[in-house]
Amino acid sequence: MMRLPKFRYLQPKSVREAVKMVADAGPTAMFVAGGTDLYPGMKRRQWTPPVVIGLSRIRELRRKSGDAKSGIVLGAGMTLTDVERDRKVRAAHPALARAVELISTPPLRNMGTIGGNVLLDTRCNYYNQNYEWRKGINFCMKKDGAICWVAPSSPRCWAVQSSDSVPVLVAIGAKAKLVSASGERVIQVADLYKDDGIDYLRKRPDELLTELHLPAVNGYRATYWKLRRRGSFDFPVISVGACLWFDGAVVKDAKIILGAVGSYPIEAVDAQKAIIGKPLTPESIAAAAEAAFRPAKPLDNTDFHMSWRKEMVRRYVAGALGELRG
Ligand SMILES: Cc1cc2nc3c(=O)[nH]c(=O)nc-3n(C[C@H](O)[C@H](O)[C@H](O)COP(=O)(O)OP(=O)(O)OC[C@H]3O[C@@H](n4cnc5c(N)ncnc54)[C@H](O)[C@@H]3O)c2cc1C
Ligand code: SF4
Repeated sequence: MMRLPKFRYLQPKSVREAVKMVADAGPTAMFVAGGTDLYPGMKRRQWTPPVVIGLSRIRELRRKSGDAKSGIVLGAGMTLTDVERDRKVRAAHPALARAVELISTPPLRNMGTIGGNVLLDTRCNYYNQNYEWRKGINFCMKKDGAICWVAPSSPRCWAVQSSDSVPVLVAIGAKAKLVSASGERVIQVADLYKDDGIDYLRKRPDELLTELHLPAVNGYRATYWKLRRRGSFDFPVISVGACLWFDGAVVKDAKIILGAVGSYPIEAVDAQKAIIGKPLTPESIAAAAEAAFRPAKPLDNTDFHMSWRKEMVRRYVAGALGELRG
């Protein structure tokens, strides 16, 4: 049986208290929301924080406000089930509701939060293993080791951004509010991520994610497509969040975001260019799918063969855009 390492557990009742606690405890402290990713990782000794700050008693993190017209604000501590079932979210942002309902299983969605999903650790077959397994291969660069087993001559880690909500949040232009003892800032969700499997977030350890700001609904159409082995609970091995703004039949603007094929949500810029400024036709969709295929660089670190996953990027982008064509 895998046991948690020893740690000190603190339970703040307000955001203010939480950010003071983390400032006092220093950068080795970690927040825990639903714990569905953090606790398994601690059992595998991927993290051994001396101090864990529980967020479940902070009511303000579970608050929701706003509406489709002004923009909906989701508390980062809302459970995935809360988000998936929320009437306003389902009506205004059905693509987000769909992405969230595709995350893991109902019991995990009852525990896991939208904030924890946005900040989910990057994943890799050589890393998401227990301590003894990782020790057996002399560990890897992401934790306790020196080499990357996926690309042994690489100076960096290629672990994969695997959160289901992120491609949609980035595609629709959602923002994140980060609060610390020294102030607060609101940034694009897209700007939270770095192309680095280890240091994958621009959020500082002393910052608490408090809110996600969904944009006012302004006539876009969005969708989310996810590929995984078992429909019941697997992480994505490819995902596509796509959001299109139309002017009549013409695509005025487009965001096509690829998940699970890099260490950050990848914007398929050339694919966007292939459809902007013209009607969405089978030909422009095929051109976009071809253009999205190129920046996607799946490596041999998740389920399925990497060349098959790369081929599936083309199909999933074509499928997502085809759905938006109606
Ligand atoms: C079997 C299984 C299947 C899964 N399948 C999927 C899947 O298909 N898709 C998917 O996207 N995820 C999946 N997950 C991962 C996880 O359940 C979800 O991503 C969940 O949303 C994580 O939320 P949490 O509240 O439990 O995060 P936690 O585990 O509490 O935290 C995750 C990380 O975020 C940090 N954190 C959490 N909240 C905050 C905050 N407000 N401010 C600052 N830092 C914070 C924590 O310190 C930690 O680093 C799966 C997990 C399991 C165990
Ligand atoms: S990509 Fe390489 S360094 Fe990163 S977790 Fe996997 S094996 Fe380790």
